[in-house]
Amino acid sequence: MTTKPAAAAARATVYGYPRQGQDRQLKKAVEGYWKGRVDADALRTTAADLRRTNWNQLAEAGVDEVPTGDFSYYDHVLDTTVMVGAIPERHRDAVAADPLDGYFAMARGTQEVAPLEMTKWFDTNYHYLVPELGPETEFAADPAKQVAELKEALALGLTARPVLVGPVTYLLLAKPAPGVAADFEPLTLLDRLLPVYAQVLAELRAAGAEWVQLDEPALVQDRTPAELNAATRAYRDLGGLTDRPKLLVASYFDRLGDALPVLAKAPVEGLALDFTEAAAANLDALAAVGGLPGKRLVAGVVNGRNIWVNDLGASLSTLGTLLGLADRVDVAASCSLLHVPLDAAVERDIEPQILRWLAFARQKTAEIVTLAKGLRHGTDAVSAELAANRADLASRASSPITRDPAVRARAAAVTDSDARRSQPYAERTAAQRAHLGLPLLPTTTIGSFPQTGELRTARAALRAGRIDTAGYEERIRAEIQEVVSFQEKTGIDVLVHGEPERNDMVQYFAEQLTGYLATRHGWVQSYGTRYVRPPVLAGDISRPEPMTVRWTTYAQSLTDRPVKGMLTGPVTMLAWSFVRDDQPLGETARQVALALRDEVNDLEAAGTSVIQVDEPALRETLPLREADRAGYLAWATEAFRLTTAGVRPDTQIHTHMCYAEFGDIVQAIDDLDADVISLEAARSHMQVARELAAHGYPREAGPGVYDIHSPRVPSTQEAAQLLRTGLEAIPAERLWVNPDCGLKTRGWPETRASLENLVTAARTVRAEL
Ligand code: GLN
Ligand code: ZN
Repeated sequence: MTTKPAAAAARATVYGYPRQGQDRQLKKAVEGYWKGRVDADALRTTAADLRRTNWNQLAEAGVDEVPTGDFSYYDHVLDTTVMVGAIPERHRDAVAADPLDGYFAMARGTQEVAPLEMTKWFDTNYHYLVPELGPETEFAADPAKQVAELKEALALGLTARPVLVGPVTYLLLAKPAPGVAADFEPLTLLDRLLPVYAQVLAELRAAGAEWVQLDEPALVQDRTPAELNAATRAYRDLGGLTDRPKLLVASYFDRLGDALPVLAKAPVEGLALDFTEAAAANLDALAAVGGLPGKRLVAGVVNGRNIWVNDLGASLSTLGTLLGLADRVDVAASCSLLHVPLDAAVERDIEPQILRWLAFARQKTAEIVTLAKGLRHGTDAVSAELAANRADLASRASSPITRDPAVRARAAAVTDSDARRSQPYAERTAAQRAHLGLPLLPTTTIGSFPQTGELRTARAALRAGRIDTAGYEERIRAEIQEVVSFQEKTGIDVLVHGEPERNDMVQYFAEQLTGYLATRHGWVQSYGTRYVRPPVLAGDISRPEPMTVRWTTYAQSLTDRPVKGMLTGPVTMLAWSFVRDDQPLGETARQVALALRDEVNDLEAAGTSVIQVDEPALRETLPLREADRAGYLAWATEAFRLTTAGVRPDTQIHTHMCYAEFGDIVQAIDDLDADVISLEAARSHMQVARELAAHGYPREAGPGVYDIHSPRVPSTQEAAQLLRTGLEAIPAERLWVNPDCGLKTRGWPETRASLENLVTAARTVRAEL
């Protein structure tokens, strides 16, 4: 295949880059500033150094146009809130007194004022701060950060393009401010917001911007005609301005769908589209509108949120097709590279051959540059890169890591009945009741107990070789003893071992499963200064040996009460990892489910009567578009059932999810066919209990009565009152008593007091039945 050189010279660009620096300098500087160890000037210097390093890195790699304004001390949506002057009332004094401290007050709260709410950025694991707006909101342009960062890049002699959150997405991501009617729609503020964007655009132009990028990822979600109309109006107005740079409207994370014709017709100069997962849909839609004559198309052909090497040949052929559909085609990642780690080349623990399958931000940048070069000069100009890429892809496809015949044969042999328990729920409950002999309103916890500094120190000592495995495990056993004896003394009915051996609920299992890789430096921003290092689900998954059985059985050996086995479910194992892209997710989930199924069965064989499989990620992984949800839920629920269906009828399966809003997936939760579910409910006064009842959810449930996100100890009366409220929705035979979530982030003193109150509350309410 040979691609002819493009008419207009294709350029390489990205929308954003990891902010933290190779050694997470940004985290250290910002946290140092909070602690008073780093002053504001030093923080600003660190930030400016990081920006310069990133830009230089991009330019040296051959990127023609670098992004600016994507840098953030905390979050780019919060930066947008500052840019449009939408500072919430309660933070105005702090921002006026000191903009930097006020900024962090909005992000983190202070003794006196609550922070902005934080929520997930689309279906990524990045969290943004939710703008709070109301009918009284008055916007005012504050382009200082954007202008300053553009000037920094221009001063380096680079071609730079400011990247802003677009006005429609900004409003669609906002929520009504406290005190504003819950049905207030922030989008009604569009006419007030557009003049502010107009002013920002004018100032960026004056500062030297030829192009400005406006990110509108909210347009890849299902949108009402009114919302699409708002987008039409927004870009007609902004496009109609005379004093403005050229506008590139960017979409990512999915297909544009109905919004594509809207943006194609808008008087803007460019569109950026995702041609990774959404490639086919976006290509068809683009062809259907007759392409983008006269416009610049930025093609996101390199996956910006996964870590696999690109198929350069396939991308070049997509780009070749696109050449016929726009005036000019540029090459980019599908979204900001914020969602991937910085540099795979620094990884030392991964075999060199396997490392070649991975592409983090630096490697992705090189891919983009290669693709732009191929598009500009024809494939012959990049033949060496293409050959090396083909070899890497071939090595990945044929590796025993990605192709384990035993795992494949087992997954292929799965039948529907493997994912069905031998008896329906209604019949199992009687057997479980007889087997477990629990009181009404049984008490339990979600799994983890406080992860003390001592435990973390012991883990670090083990890693550093200061203590040996035997010494470490002795420490873990002592902790389990303490946790079990506390629960017995307190009178909890179904005990846990406390998860002291787990560094993280996904990583712990990933380290023990074959097919997962761990990185040493693969940090990705989760929110603010919090970074996670997701494991890489690289190959076929198998479980060489039991992972949790000895800890659970050890705990069980210490007590006559049932000890609950504790596992992370298959959907969450995928959601909080980088997953392979060379097979459907459902297939990967099935492999993980089979490995976990063996663990579940081994726990049962070792005498465990209650086993909890946590799926906190079930809802957050829900596809952005409604049309894709049924397919996702089908494989997700099947994977859960495959994990759990191999047990006897009298073994009780629990699951746990950490959120309060899930009305839209009650059916899916029922389809898990678990016996008991625990959920977050304390803050919403048992709202979930009412929702479950409203949907006729037939199973046992434990809506949390203890908000574990705060060190506050709930009183007995308070917990009892929540239980009484719960009983109005869920009958006593099906109501469990538990906290909202695990206790790993809590200290022992408040955990002790809270659980004692929880048990007393359960006893009090039992006596009223
Ligand atoms: N079992 C886990 C724990 O208790 C569940 C954590 C979670 O739901 N995120 O920590
Ligand atoms: Zn939870």
